[in-house]
Amino acid sequence: MCELRRHVYANTVDRSAIKKLVKRAFPRCECKKLHDQLRNANRPNENELLDFEETCGDALDSNLEAELQAVELQYQKDVDSRVEELTDDKSTTEEAERFDLTLKLCTDPVENNNSEVKSVDKPFNDSPTDAKTVCDDFKSYSIEHADREQQDQQSTQENSRRVCGGHEVAMITESIVQELDLREESIATLLCYLELHPRRWLEVLQPVKSTCTVKFYGGYPQLRAVAQKIPPIAAAISLNTTTAAGFKKSSTLTFPVVELADKMGWDLAPVCRELRALQWNTSLSLDNSLSNMGQSGILVEFSDLSMHHRAPGDLSDSERDSVCDFLEDRILAEERSQLQQLQFVYDSLKGVSCSEFWQCADAVDEEADKQLKQLVRSYFEDCNDKTKEELAALAKARKGARGIPSSITRDENVNWDIVARDIRALLGVHHDHSFTGRAIARIFHGIDSPCYPAEVWGRDRRFWRKHLDVEFNSLRKFATQELIRFR
Ligand SMILES: [Zn+2]
Repeated sequence: MCELRRHVYANTVDRSAIKKLVKRAFPRCECKKLHDQLRNANRPNENELLDFEETCGDALDSNLEAELQAVELQYQKDVDSRVEELTDDKSTTEEAERFDLTLKLCTDPVENNNSEVKSVDKPFNDSPTDAKTVCDDFKSYSIEHADREQQDQQSTQENSRRVCGGHEVAMITESIVQELDLREESIATLLCYLELHPRRWLEVLQPVKSTCTVKFYGGYPQLRAVAQKIPPIAAAISLNTTTAAGFKKSSTLTFPVVELADKMGWDLAPVCRELRALQWNTSLSLDNSLSNMGQSGILVEFSDLSMHHRAPGDLSDSERDSVCDFLEDRILAEERSQLQQLQFVYDSLKGVSCSEFWQCADAVDEEADKQLKQLVRSYFEDCNDKTKEELAALAKARKGARGIPSSITRDENVNWDIVARDIRALLGVHHDHSFTGRAIARIFHGIDSPCYPAEVWGRDRRFWRKHLDVEFNSLRKFATQELIRFR
């Protein structure tokens, strides 16, 4: 039994990990602030604003170019001043301010236009009508559906009140898996839960390679020349100059392409296509021999496979909390119902089995056969309701006591002194790792996870699968207490 239970525990996570995921999946954005600013500007003179928006839209391309020239000029100046005097702190701060300003000029109108457009054609508005037609068909479920419809309407209201139209977010799969110590499929499942939520927190998109590296054989001069012609490259340079690392004169350019496209209000696919096409755009080549071969001397590579979704960035803190609560309840309910099902199957099979093989070797036991079939049928008919039941119970508990009742039954037979000794030994041997209670419990149960893979940690027989007999959640709790004591 404990062998099978391990698989259930492999899918559960701590609330801290859920929080991290929510933070990564819903990065905060400036839409609300910009919207308020716009509204304030809107009040005195509406026409002026419209004119302003139009001119901004037209001036976008020239803005980009102007900005790029400003970048070059600034660097030329920067180099000159560095020759003259080594301390040029002032100029760099000025430079940063200036870039911020130009970038704002560039991106603001796009983002505002974009959010307006997006909020119009969002799919959120479709759901209530769908729910209505479904409702007509299934009158018998009217109460449940009325509830759902109300929820849907409420959610559409909430969503239409939302200022932010949603941003495309790419999370590099490898890094997020390591950060959360959770397998890729589990993270994808959590994102799907959020998509299927009545309020439709996010929209899961196709995975993409989110880092773009552009290499210029012609070196920095070619980069400069290309940037004046190709807006995505210019935008990438301005993005790089505003990030902390700064921008150096080099022949390669690396940037997060999803973030860039979102910031500029462009669609991702055409941007990627344009970037890829750079490789064969012979007009950009500085070298004649290369252009004769149909190449431009530019190498474009996409790397870092990422999970990709669209999510609003202006969630309030209480909304973020409710997302965390929802995910946590969901995970706990899954864990509990799966454990119950496992126990159910175990008990059922035990109930119809014989203690010795010869007791059932000669004749078919019709009675046990019927019983078993009945059990299997009820198992499959029941499996969804169990999770629902658990979810309802958890939601109720959360409303009432603001705390989730623990499912842990104190195991009196466990010698906690031995467990505590092993935990201390583990911490002593691997003092360079920052363990969590869950990580320790996983190691003692021999549960494979991205940060503590079985191939590495399974070799150390002193700890791996050492306390399989102790119930997982009480072991996790005990390990957390020990960790606090140890620090
Ligand atoms: Zn936003």
